[in-house]
Amino acid sequence: MALPQPSRASLVWRALRRRCPYCGSKGYLVSWFKLAQHCPTCGLATDRVVGHWVGAVGMNTMLTFGALFVVLMVGMIATYPDIAVAPVLAASVGAAVLVPIVAWPFSQTLWTAVDIMMRPVTIDELDPRYVGR
Ligand SMILES: [Zn+2]
Repeated sequence: MALPQPSRASLVWRALRRRCPYCGSKGYLVSWFKLAQHCPTCGLATDRVVGHWVGAVGMNTMLTFGALFVVLMVGMIATYPDIAVAPVLAASVGAAVLVPIVAWPFSQTLWTAVDIMMRPVTIDELDPRYVGR
């Protein structure tokens, strides 16, 4: 039996709202920094394979470096030709500290969404009550 797979847009939209990318329910995250072990609705494991968190860290790193790049470019372009080094540096450090913290839960759910795009969910990964078997 082939499982219905959510569209890529649905996966990303649910992930951006910190919900289970597969079913869209709340409770995928226990707190800002901690994932539940399984989705409370569909039962999808939050770490589908060993080392799943490495992808989330990579996603968080990409978001952080992207934000850092934007802060540096905006700061340098806004103050060109006399680049205000100290304010740009302070803003960069602020972005480098805050973005990973703010982006962490989104990195987790977005990585799960990307993982589902690459490896569709199988029936064995879901709670039998959710699947109806
Ligand atoms: Zn779910």
